[in-house]
Amino acid sequence: MSDIKTMGQQFGRRSWAEPWKIKMVEPIHMITRAEREKAAADAGYNTFLLRSEDVYIDLLTDSGTSAMSDRQWSGMMMGDEAYAGSRNFYNLENAIQTYYGYKHIIPTHQGRGAEHLISQALIKKGDYIPGNMYFTTTRLHQELAGGTFVDVIIDQAHDPIDPHLFKGNVDIDKVKALVKKVGAENIPYVSLAGTVNMAGGQPVSMQNARELRAYCDSQGIAVYLDATRMYENAFFIQEREEGYAEKSIAEILLEFCSYTDGAWMSAKKDNLVNIGGWLAVNDPKVAEQARTMVVVYEGLHTYGGMAGRDMEALAIGIAEGVQDDHVASRVRQVRYLGKLLLDWDIPIMQPVGGHAIFVDAKRFYPHIPQDQFPSQTLAAQLYLDSGVRSMERGVVSAGRNPETGEHRYPALELTRITIPRRVYTQAHMDVVAESLKAVYDQRDSTKGLKMVYEPEYLRFFQARFELLD
Ligand SMILES: *Cc1c(COP(=O)(O)O)cnc(C)c1O
Repeated sequence: MSDIKTMGQQFGRRSWAEPWKIKMVEPIHMITRAEREKAAADAGYNTFLLRSEDVYIDLLTDSGTSAMSDRQWSGMMMGDEAYAGSRNFYNLENAIQTYYGYKHIIPTHQGRGAEHLISQALIKKGDYIPGNMYFTTTRLHQELAGGTFVDVIIDQAHDPIDPHLFKGNVDIDKVKALVKKVGAENIPYVSLAGTVNMAGGQPVSMQNARELRAYCDSQGIAVYLDATRMYENAFFIQEREEGYAEKSIAEILLEFCSYTDGAWMSAKKDNLVNIGGWLAVNDPKVAEQARTMVVVYEGLHTYGGMAGRDMEALAIGIAEGVQDDHVASRVRQVRYLGKLLLDWDIPIMQPVGGHAIFVDAKRFYPHIPQDQFPSQTLAAQLYLDSGVRSMERGVVSAGRNPETGEHRYPALELTRITIPRRVYTQAHMDVVAESLKAVYDQRDSTKGLKMVYEPEYLRFFQARFELLD
């Protein structure tokens, strides 16, 4: 038998390959070094402020950057653009119920729309929300609803080279300690994410989800899931957790979701669409509250800010994205890039996660202090070298402590090189690895950055910098 799982185990060398072929291409090209220097300076050395035309290989994010399939594009022609009760909504509802197993579905324009609804529905002022590491928009919505986020991820997640296979796990003792301190009545839910983006795309084990559910049940605390990259999380469970090797990603996903009360989703990631999101819950009262709010902030509860055609592409993307061969090739492409970098001793977060390579900027630039933004510096240098766009996930993303106004100094100071799904080839990965090597070879003479403009919220999107000299 030679399927994608067993290939390579039987022979010295049998490679995997993408389960698709290319039908349409989009030309890209690299502008000159002088043009890149000007573009970088104009963008305040913030890769979010570059024009995409000035970018050669765009690894800023895997959000909304996937290539849709011919089937999804055909679905776009089947849009039912009725204001209410569009056929495409029912297809979407059916896909989410089938693959994720939740009862009530509320569409939103993207993930943060769903985060807004669930945070406002469940959090009251003074509440605490434990979670397995913060995510930028998730935490901000929890704070805007009057809550305080408390990180309860296992300690190993904060160590960029700890080889733990499930670095996304919740440390249930930390949840217990929080319950003891603030009382279960002030904890509306645990905010569980699979995989954990800010920890490097690290997975949560099935056992951890099961144990968390059992403990939360004993305390009357709900568990809500950030399902944004749960397909990739399910792949790691299949690969690493005892008893799951023979189960499909779809089966693993359903079991995992069954330990939670609902989920919010950025469909721009796993679900293979360029825009879209959803909230899914089992509790009819929470669904009713969310539907009341969705009409204020997003759109009617049968479109939530999406066009009918977008909901159709999403319904198809949900079913395509969960296929074993798709997820396996997606994660293996990320791993291929990771292996090239490790072979050259470039410090990256390990084990390599599901959607991105996270370069450890603290070890890459040990001479640049955190208040001179090492990961922002690395993202700028990579762009200057080759036009490859990455992003900062360190002190800039962490923002300021709202009480003290000081920078939050996260243990992890990372530059994220994120791989869009079904977009780039292995040759693109080679170019990226070689460029990082060139930047690494010049590390000793590289200086940090100075922040010259800082917006109040989610500053990493729009902050501006100057080169220090
Ligand atoms: C992208 C993302 C979100 C927010 O979703 P948007 O679609 O960007 O609004 C929430 N959680 C995680 C883990 C994400 O990666």
